[in-house]
Amino acid sequence: MGIQDRLIEDVGLREGVKRLTEDKIEKVVQGVLKGETGARLAAYNEICMRCGLCSEACHFYLSHDGDPSYSPVGKVQQTMAQLIKKKGRVSPDDIYGMAQIAYTECNLCRRCVHFCPVGIDTGYIMSTVRRICHKLGVTPQYIQDTAHSHSATFNQMWVKDDEWPDSLQWQEDEAREEFPGLRIPLDKEGADIYYSVIAPEPKFRTQLIYQAAAIFNAAGVDWTMPSEPGWDNSDMCMFTGDFEMMGRLKRRHFESAQKLKVKRIVMGECGHAFRSIYDMGNRWVAWKMYPVPVIHSIEFFWELMKQGKIKLAKKYPGPVTVHDPCNVVRGRGHHEKLRELVRFLIDGEIIETASNREHNICCTAGGGVINCGPPFKNVRLAGSKAKADELRATGVKTIVAPCHNCHGGLEDTVKRYELGMHIKFLGDIIYECMEKPS
Ligand code: SF4
Ligand code: SF4
Repeated sequence: MGIQDRLIEDVGLREGVKRLTEDKIEKVVQGVLKGETGARLAAYNEICMRCGLCSEACHFYLSHDGDPSYSPVGKVQQTMAQLIKKKGRVSPDDIYGMAQIAYTECNLCRRCVHFCPVGIDTGYIMSTVRRICHKLGVTPQYIQDTAHSHSATFNQMWVKDDEWPDSLQWQEDEAREEFPGLRIPLDKEGADIYYSVIAPEPKFRTQLIYQAAAIFNAAGVDWTMPSEPGWDNSDMCMFTGDFEMMGRLKRRHFESAQKLKVKRIVMGECGHAFRSIYDMGNRWVAWKMYPVPVIHSIEFFWELMKQGKIKLAKKYPGPVTVHDPCNVVRGRGHHEKLRELVRFLIDGEIIETASNREHNICCTAGGGVINCGPPFKNVRLAGSKAKADELRATGVKTIVAPCHNCHGGLEDTVKRYELGMHIKFLGDIIYECMEKPS
């Protein structure tokens, strides 16, 4: 089976390819290959032995009974290898299939790098295919809408400038009923911590801001949030291939932190936003180092725990399993801090999934795949069968997952495969178990 046997109708892809000609495709492909990729892509193309050792790494391959067209090398052969071999002279229909593979059948999770004897990064290759598709104007509609929101508002969810401080004010008001005197300090110059979130928080998951405020308040953290655009560090443009906008987003985020002269940025429980400033956005804007140090919430909560600043009234009932988000564990190595923190918070054991830590299987939502929306939902969930099997085998009821995308993907997976599990952020557990005013 190949991509032509499983094409899905998407208005963004369909309308995009209608505007293409083979001449235009060739020009754009050549422009990206010659102007934006260097020895890395050329070397990957030269050294791949087509050995297939990467196949077992990929949950899409595992979940589709070993169909080779879903393997990392199979996906590269249907996309980038064709573009290179044909020097970009492919048809608009070919681009449709390549876009579907790159945007919806690869989570850019990079598990396959660990299985490849020569270290080929298929996630990078698929990102480059996406970059070409973006420049051709062929992007799934739902994720393109979030990229447009970034361009228009500097946040992913069309949150208006006045809605953002209003949401924080509302959370502060609510939290003060439970924690008298609590503040969500806006625009506080020189604070130790700038708390960075993503736009789904004020839109859908306001409890996370409430909980973070409660935890920081109880721990005596000197923190702030900006009142102006720049507060959202999410980055769907990184995933659509709109790298120009990705760079603008990262600059805006850091400039808002620099303006407040904060000491550090703490990224909330999100993986892709974290990746956007340690892996992709920072490279695009050619920063050797970030202008302001950034750590992920896993590390910050771990620091608070080590300093004795998280005071628990009770422990969360275990056992639990831990889902390691690709972008903070495989990409950043936070697996042991995560486990140390979870052991501190729970009463019981951590039951590991068969694949864990840096070898963890992706939630199947990452890389912007979940953001490609309803047309691709069934395909995405078919791809998460391997993850569901590993989760079911743990026999536990709670999954701890410190990442927004992972939550979205795991919630769908739990429902589709009737796993009967619930998913918790670290902030959920800390808030639930911390000492509170009586
Ligand atoms: S989904 Fe992950 S394992 Fe599969 S090809 Fe993409 S990067 Fe590799
Ligand atoms: S394991 Fe590496 S060399 Fe072998 S097919 Fe996969 S990408 Fe190519």
